[in-house]
Amino acid sequence: MLKIGCHLSTSGGFAGMGRTAVSIGANVFQFFTRNPRGGAAKPIDPADIAEFEKIAAENGLQTLLAHAPYTLNACAAKENIRTFARETMADDLKRMEHVPGNLYNFHPGSHVGQGIEAGIGMIAETLNAVLTPEQRTTVLLETMAGKGSEVGGRFEELRAIIDRVELKEKMGVCLDTCHVYDAGYDVLNDLDGVLREFDRVVGLERLRAIHVNDSKNPFASHKDRHEVIGGGSLGTEFFRRLINHPLLRDLPFYLETPNELDGYAREIALFRELYEGQEA
Ligand code: FE
Ligand code: FE
Ligand code: ZN
Repeated sequence: MLKIGCHLSTSGGFAGMGRTAVSIGANVFQFFTRNPRGGAAKPIDPADIAEFEKIAAENGLQTLLAHAPYTLNACAAKENIRTFARETMADDLKRMEHVPGNLYNFHPGSHVGQGIEAGIGMIAETLNAVLTPEQRTTVLLETMAGKGSEVGGRFEELRAIIDRVELKEKMGVCLDTCHVYDAGYDVLNDLDGVLREFDRVVGLERLRAIHVNDSKNPFASHKDRHEVIGGGSLGTEFFRRLINHPLLRDLPFYLETPNELDGYAREIALFRELYEGQEA
């Protein structure tokens, strides 16, 4: 069964997101844990969670991917910004225990001139401060485009972060197709080679989710501008190969393309058409 969905607005709570996901043919979805610009998260409403669980069970909704605010920077130069990142992640992970067994994804951060090594150290330090042995959420590092001083544009950087995390069993990676292509991994012409490289450096068992985005920019542009499926430099045929790849086809796929709900519904339907096997 293809696990495909998209990024949804959190305004209707978990139950609202569940209903929206079902209405557009999604069986997984992603959401921001709070306003991407930061700020307090809405308190968890047990009635909302209960209603969501009912909708999820009735409609076969699967893996949720919570996305940390993209403004979080665990390796900022200013200590108060790093403290904010740590407190926000700790709070997000506590909230995720209301929907246990899901995924939490974050952008590793930008070292803002302090250097990759220093950045990697601070990111690992943050993870060591927030991860707990009891948590049932897997925390994912997102592969980045390598824009500016972003950490995570190279698989080696993700591996170096994980190496310094004590609770490694809580860690995974979310691969973003637009980001890796922009970062200089040629998934378009050599998907097998990139997956071999990922396996060699990080280990494929760490790969837990895929962001499916076309890219507005050419290979290795280090830009990070998402495009609708088939509208960018990757193209529809690439996504057919991606979602059917024997090493990837059972992972959850999340669209973050520039779309409204109707556009997402069309892309989800397209992916189900492209998926080989009866259980699209
Ligand atoms: Fe992201
Ligand atoms: Fe992404
Ligand atoms: Zn992006």
